[in-house]
Amino acid sequence: MRLEDRIAVITGGAGGIGLATARRFLAEGAAGVHLVDLDADALEAAAAELAPDRVGWTAADVSRDADVARYTREAVERFGRIDILFLNAGVEGIVQPMTDYPEAVYDQVMGVNVKGVWLGMKHGFPVLEKAGGGSVIITSSVAGLMGTPNVSVYTTSKHATIGLMRSGALEGAPLGIRVNSIHPSPVDNRMMRSLEEGFAPGAAEEAKKTFETRIPLGRYGTNEEMADLALFLASDESRFITGAVIPIDGGMTV
Ligand code: NAD
Repeated sequence: MRLEDRIAVITGGAGGIGLATARRFLAEGAAGVHLVDLDADALEAAAAELAPDRVGWTAADVSRDADVARYTREAVERFGRIDILFLNAGVEGIVQPMTDYPEAVYDQVMGVNVKGVWLGMKHGFPVLEKAGGGSVIITSSVAGLMGTPNVSVYTTSKHATIGLMRSGALEGAPLGIRVNSIHPSPVDNRMMRSLEEGFAPGAAEEAKKTFETRIPLGRYGTNEEMADLALFLASDESRFITGAVIPIDGGMTV
């Protein structure tokens, strides 16, 4: 019971990594998990499947200030405080050379992946401080550590979250708030199906094989493996770790 009595907020909570992490946090004794995502029906179904007595949710767009203020407030109204903030919501955008990339998709990807993380800390820090400190975990990507052609905006957004993480770690330390970022390689879920199709329309399986050859351990990660790392960073076992960039990538960035 590594999270006994803890309260967590998870953005992207109805998605692959977010939902697996909610399940893991609850199994480790979390007293409450508040899920944040775009679609109310998906959130309601997730809460019902997990543990309705310990799961709350807010349908919100993490790229909008008022929505982030609302999910933060609703989590506190439901559970009294927040100890763990998993800023995990993200969008992949499209696969397109920089010269053809639409401005509207740039704004969406940067809005969710970067502004969403900044707003999460902006509204979350005062609440975590009131709880006596806590842990913020940001889901970046191997795309935050290396380049890949034709996903320039996703790559840029995931590099940018390292800047937010480092700033948050320094501003949070005096308040007892730790901030770290995790950097998954491809994970076997919806987002990769979308990217495989983008890289190789009609030949997603081939694209998957190509990605796998770039991962020394020879396979994609799983949602559950990402949840294990988030659990470690949420728990007291990582109490002396802040400001860290942590790849979880089967060796892809070695
Ligand atoms: P996913 O698509 O299953 O989950 C992402 C979730 O974020 C979705 O449920 C989506 O509805 C939600 N979301 C999107 N825009 C939002 C918004 N404006 N407001 C609130 N919620 C929003 O994919 P996932 O793999 O679980 O993604 C989680 C995180 O992991 C993302 O930040 C992603 O970039 C990162 N990541 C994923 C992979 C991968 O291979 N899947 C690899 C590296 C990093």
